[in-house]
Amino acid sequence: MSQTHAVAIIGLGPKGLYCLERLLSEFYARPLKQSLHVHVFNRSASFGASPIYDPQQPDYILVNISVGEIDLWTANNPPIVAGRGPDFLTWYQQRFQPREPLSGKEYLPRAVVGRYLVEGFNRIRDNLPDGVRLSCHHGEVTDIEPSGTGYWLQFVAAEGHVQQIVADKILLSTGHSRLRPGNAENSYHEFARRHSRAAFVPYVYPVKETMRSIPTGTKVAMKGIGLTFIDAVLELTEGRGGHFYRTGQGALAYAASGKEPQSIIPFCRTGLPMAPKSYDLPQFDRPLTFIDDSALAALHERLRDRKLDLENDLWPLFEAEMELNYYRVAMGSGEWRQQLDSCGKNADEMRSVIESYHRAYLTAERFDYRSVLDPAEYRRFADGSSFASFVEQYMEAEIARARLGQAGSAIKAGIEIWYELRKVLSGFIQFGGLTPASHRRLVEYWFPRFKRVVFGPPIVNIEKLLALCKAGILDFSVARNPSVSLDESSGCFRVCSDAISGATRSAEILVDARYPPVDIPQDASPLYRKLSARGMIRAYENRETGLSSSTYSPGAIDMTEGSRFVIGANGQPNEDIAVTGIPTEGNLVGNLTVARDEYSSRWAVQVMEQLRWREGR
Ligand SMILES: Cc1cc2nc3c(=O)[nH]c(=O)nc-3n(C[C@H](O)[C@H](O)[C@H](O)COP(=O)(O)OP(=O)(O)OC[C@H]3O[C@@H](n4cnc5c(N)ncnc54)[C@H](O)[C@@H]3O)c2cc1C
Repeated sequence: MSQTHAVAIIGLGPKGLYCLERLLSEFYARPLKQSLHVHVFNRSASFGASPIYDPQQPDYILVNISVGEIDLWTANNPPIVAGRGPDFLTWYQQRFQPREPLSGKEYLPRAVVGRYLVEGFNRIRDNLPDGVRLSCHHGEVTDIEPSGTGYWLQFVAAEGHVQQIVADKILLSTGHSRLRPGNAENSYHEFARRHSRAAFVPYVYPVKETMRSIPTGTKVAMKGIGLTFIDAVLELTEGRGGHFYRTGQGALAYAASGKEPQSIIPFCRTGLPMAPKSYDLPQFDRPLTFIDDSALAALHERLRDRKLDLENDLWPLFEAEMELNYYRVAMGSGEWRQQLDSCGKNADEMRSVIESYHRAYLTAERFDYRSVLDPAEYRRFADGSSFASFVEQYMEAEIARARLGQAGSAIKAGIEIWYELRKVLSGFIQFGGLTPASHRRLVEYWFPRFKRVVFGPPIVNIEKLLALCKAGILDFSVARNPSVSLDESSGCFRVCSDAISGATRSAEILVDARYPPVDIPQDASPLYRKLSARGMIRAYENRETGLSSSTYSPGAIDMTEGSRFVIGANGQPNEDIAVTGIPTEGNLVGNLTVARDEYSSRWAVQVMEQLRWREGR
């Protein structure tokens, strides 16, 4: 038996950081007989921050949660060995001493949050308990090979040398990954190789480097109109010396530097940018009305003998919650609102009050979340410019709604209750709680649609997109669900929207401005490819047996429930390797946050128990 236990944490973004902190605090509270050597590995030099919160990135790349929610030091059992550090707001106040203290509702640069995370890591590193050694390895783990009772980790350091490091227990906290290119991406790469003017950018991060290759004055088509797209667009505009300013009317306008592309041509399924978040998004959990303890107990009871059906079992409750929150605002504070509130948890009564309200107010807008999800669905557009004007009006309307906030906009109040509904869903989706068909529909249909209207950027970023439309840089003419073809004669990508008659644009550059989803079998990283090839991991599958046997694989890694030990190709759990965060997304949901999840504590306890058990053998 070696005299020192070795634990490896592969990936030191926020999730790895929380796990490291818990492990050290557990060791401090209940030390082992032997010493502990913790190896942390991170591809980027900023331990704790990850490329998402890279402290070097430009300041116009903003977080998409308000900073009042960020706190590294919420764990307390056992107490933090490094002592409780400052929450983000306190840290910011101490560090920058702004004249006006932050309210917590601000959306600050991701780089600033990165500095907070890195300083948090430094605090942990500088306060190790006795008996612990910490080695920080900057570079990439490319393989894990079983060896006796432990593992060899193949590590390629950032400076290029290759090393083998031994570990007894391993945590995969590898975060966001890239996928192997599919047929379409390969054809774009080959097209760009054949035509000197053409280029294909498969991934936008780090934006400073990837966007640098795009020449001034070119036309750039961008696939995906989400948060990643905004980062890329801001790099091509503000990042090139342009600036945004407020006009006398209060709107944002853009003054170009002349170094921008000639035009940026975004496209996606709906052709619409995300809706900005309400300015008054609550920072705490809000109680639901129809999904209370007894409704949850009834659902769990049903789960004992069958998987849940999304549309039959859950959706009616979700619709009732959205409607209630919409009409609470729409009806104001008078008699109608009192009648609504008096219905309590009775959805039928609530609907009859709503019907009476609409009979009394014939022009009052009915709640229709489907039209919020895709307001262009039943509209026809004569040409590209009419669709582009529609998008501008859409952005103006969404900015106005977000400024009214949940208190002033019934639509925002109704739709943003999805924050709470998603938490409910996460309790049922995991480990096959939903039927495979429902699981697929949720992940592939409902999640992307709600994500667009609920988890959008701060208001200022949609104002910036609008200003760039008005400045003639952003061109939404072909944005709605187009096809991309390769025009050999011009050497340009052709983007052609079937939904908008005759709308076509050509671009020398094509950028994939989406963030890749989790897809373990398609993961491009050497580590996951090797682990898959060795049969040490496999993709999770939601399976329903019986008459209607069916399966769904959302792309997540397979693991045991609770302990999160990876499961190999032979179906056996490996109690030495656990996984957390993004690779589990699709089975678990809610990993896409900088906040701590409870698993960090569980992992630390279980590793310490396992090592203690080894010592007792
Ligand atoms: C573009 C973008 C913006 C986001 N903005 C926000 C936001 O504003 N607010 C918010 O709450 N959430 C945001 N998120 C969600 C994000 O998922 C989480 O905030 C958080 O970064 C997740 O932490 P993580 O540690 O699981 O993963 P990551 O942050 O991805 O960190 C994983 C780390 O592991 C390293 N790594 C991976 N593989 C290896 C290997 N083989 N060897 C060595 N190191 C490895 C990576 O280099 C990285 O440093 C954003 C996500 C994206 C994609």
